[in-house]
Amino acid sequence: MKILKLAKENLDFFVAVLPAFGEVYAPIKRGKGFVFERPSRWSDVQMAYTRTMLPPKKLLLPPRETTFAFDPEKGYQDRLAEASKPMVLFGVHSYDIYGLNILDRVFAQAKYPDPYYIARRKNTAIIGVDFVPDDKHLASSMNADFVDSGFDLFLSDIGNDYLVLVGTSRGDDMVVMSNCLMETPAEADFEEYKKRSKLRRDSYKVHLALEDLPEILEMEYHSEVWDEMGERCLSCGSCSMVCPTCYCFDVNDEVEFGSRKGQRIRSWDSCLLRTHALVAGGENFRGERSSRVKFRYYHKQRGFVAEYGRPSCVGCGRCVDVCPAEINIISVIQSIRGERDGSASGNPASS
Ligand code: SF4
Ligand code: SF4
Repeated sequence: MKILKLAKENLDFFVAVLPAFGEVYAPIKRGKGFVFERPSRWSDVQMAYTRTMLPPKKLLLPPRETTFAFDPEKGYQDRLAEASKPMVLFGVHSYDIYGLNILDRVFAQAKYPDPYYIARRKNTAIIGVDFVPDDKHLASSMNADFVDSGFDLFLSDIGNDYLVLVGTSRGDDMVVMSNCLMETPAEADFEEYKKRSKLRRDSYKVHLALEDLPEILEMEYHSEVWDEMGERCLSCGSCSMVCPTCYCFDVNDEVEFGSRKGQRIRSWDSCLLRTHALVAGGENFRGERSSRVKFRYYHKQRGFVAEYGRPSCVGCGRCVDVCPAEINIISVIQSIRGERDGSASGNPASS
């Protein structure tokens, strides 16, 4: 992988080339949080942010999208041209890039590849930036605090410069188009990178042991922890909505009243919602809240490991942030492991 460096004072010149690669989205401040949006001016872009409210998944797998329209006269009209619009996602953290790599396995490398996801992914350039973890990040426990693929460029802060990893030929094109703004790093730059990399690793306040978690989950299938969480859970689905790796969706056909024209709509779903496993005839395979909460953990930390060799959690901490019942992955795993007394809820900072 090619490694270059970019002086921070040249960042504004570098980002000026990005619109040539697509519509640019970047983290900007919105209220008390951050969102990926099209910045109206570059000074709004936040290089040092904790996490965005929704992951960049929202741009590659939109919360609601029309996949095709149908009309007895015109036939079937897909929306692939719209999904192929080039985009640049600037300022993506490693765990969110990892989240997209996980979605690739589900939507691009699966038995039934999804043409809409693939079209967006192919036409989206990703520029990563490093971050300093807060008390809710658990990306290092999930092996997602560093990525070696899934991005075009990755910027790491080394003081007055960024060390730039060039991940793809599209990233290389960006470098070339920026007209020699990037230089070859010196030995001292690598030393600075290593020093800061260690500092970042040492900043994690949350450390979860995952090695034998699938086996422990197997043993704890009937644990009271699930009942306790079921009592607390409000089935709001927020934890799935903010998760970079949750990918359940619902499909509905909307037919125009009095005609046979219509469109097929895909929208995000959540296994925490009461209706998720409801089928015709009124049978609900996961009618109990405790079974729905349990399913989420078993899918991410056991089923996904068996299928793909790693959990489908990347440790972004968003579900910790949003749960109104203060159910969080950190204390749940600690409780299941028997490393915590009583409650499976609470603020990780105090755990
Ligand atoms: S389960 Fe929670 S911490 Fe893990 S990736 Fe999803 S939102 Fe982030
Ligand atoms: S965010 Fe919390 S309360 Fe809402 S569904 Fe998820 S676990 Fe339940």
